[in-house]
Order: sequence, then C-alpha cells, then structure tokens
Amino acid sequence: MKIIVLTELRRALGDDFGPGEAVTRAEAVHAAPADPDTPGDPGGKTFCGLSTEGMDRHPYSPSRAGQAWYPAGVSRFRCPTCDKALRSL
Ligand SMILES: [Zn+2]
Repeated sequence: MKIIVLTELRRALGDDFGPGEAVTRAEAVHAAPADPDTPGDPGGKTFCGLSTEGMDRHPYSPSRAGQAWYPAGVSRFRCPTCDKALRSL
C-alpha cells in the first residue's frame, strides 16, 4: 500500500508578537493511505482518523520496505497513533 505523508500545520504569531507575518509551524506529521481513485493523493482520513483536509502534503515517501514512514528529521513530530497503525500493517 502506498502511504502519503502529511504535515499538520498550525499558524501562530511570530516570536515577537508583532504585526508581522504569522508563521506556520509543523504540529504533527501524519500518514494517510493513498486514495484508491487518485493514487498520489491522500484518502480522506489519516491512519489516526483525522481529516486530511487542510494538511500539507510532504514530498517524502518511503521507497522500500522497512524504511521509516516519516522523513528523517521530523521523528519528534510524528503522530504516535499513525506510527502504531503503520507498524501493525
Ligand atoms: Zn496521525
């Protein structure tokens, strides 16, 4: 099964709380199964049951079996529920 990696973003005030641009921060990294009708697009729900709407697609995709489903460097943001679901596949 193809897995799509999604980033849940949260818009927040800039660090100076000034009137400048809001910054987006990664809140969590989730995974969703690819939509069977449009492979390459995520289905409606992540493995942890969240709507994929509004989430940002991450270009990372595990290319071989046994490879981590999440991109290197974001392990501390990975969703534990998605992680568990993917481990039991
Ligand atoms: Zn998740």
